[in-house]
Amino acid sequence: MIDLRSDTVTKPTQAMLDTMFSAQVGDDVYGDDPSVNELESWAAKRHGFENAIFCSSGTQANLLALMAHCERGDEYLCGQQAHNYKFEGGGAAVLGSIQPQPIENELDGTLCFKKLKAAIKPDDSHFARTRLLSLENTINGKVIPLTYIQQARQFANENALALHLDGARVYNASTALDIDIKEITQCFDSVSICLSKGLGAPIGSLLLGNKRLINKARRWRKVLGGGMRQAGFLASAGLYALQYNVTRLKEDHDNACYLAESLNHLAAFKLNPDFVETNIVFAKLDDDVDQEKLVAYLKQNGILVSKGQPMRFVTHNGISRQDITRLIDQLKQYFT
Ligand SMILES: *Cc1c(COP(=O)(O)O)cnc(C)c1O
Repeated sequence: MIDLRSDTVTKPTQAMLDTMFSAQVGDDVYGDDPSVNELESWAAKRHGFENAIFCSSGTQANLLALMAHCERGDEYLCGQQAHNYKFEGGGAAVLGSIQPQPIENELDGTLCFKKLKAAIKPDDSHFARTRLLSLENTINGKVIPLTYIQQARQFANENALALHLDGARVYNASTALDIDIKEITQCFDSVSICLSKGLGAPIGSLLLGNKRLINKARRWRKVLGGGMRQAGFLASAGLYALQYNVTRLKEDHDNACYLAESLNHLAAFKLNPDFVETNIVFAKLDDDVDQEKLVAYLKQNGILVSKGQPMRFVTHNGISRQDITRLIDQLKQYFT
């Protein structure tokens, strides 16, 4: 199957599996798992933080960050399109008693500082306490410019806010910008990173922060049922992903570009290939096309795509240039 639904579908390579099989493990809740400890200390240092915690998912890493930065009755500023507002089941409110204050994202994915400033609540018992600004990079495949991030750091400082990055795909951002990951991560008080998307690990995310924040997160992780025991088998895959799978992300971006340009030549799709910056392609399907039928036809021919308008196609280590050519050929056949 050619699976373009998401980069979460990636499966471990043989080399990653070999690493997992030979991992040294222990009980991580006791702090005894050498592979988890190695991943956490390596990742903390690599991204310029005091500490790190290995989490079961990106959703959990973001929730731990929100619960570590904010107390009951606090609020966080974020984008209306933010994953940790829109796609995480309202976890911050449900489990943290933390109120989100979403702001409409600008077209480039950033948040307008004027609008953010206006949303910060005065110190008054009528209001929740505004504690945190949460950004996302990449957001819907778009890269947030480094200059904006630096301005956001200054804005956070001026307004006594902590600054979190949902960096599920932050390595796609650093790859697209062709800069060291630290240039982005060092601007934040905390960063979450998904190991199980384009980086190709089967399971797991990281949360990075200072000692105090990660200690709080560690406590909440246990409360949420996220304290895992011999987690080193998974952590070793995560460390492998960070050490060996970053440089190949460029290939996914090139393939996404190629896919965008090819789709653009088909009359049924409308998109601007210049807007494709990383591994995600959004393409508007002509309203006259029956999408259900199209998706079913592709599936019959060994190609999985998600329904949606615009349609979203995601490249990853399981997608080659030939796979994209096959998709385009199938689409050409379908539309003739
Ligand atoms: C995927 C994703 C997450 C959540 O990761 P899961 O491991 O699926 O819980 C968080 N933020 C962003 C931007 C994501 O793309």
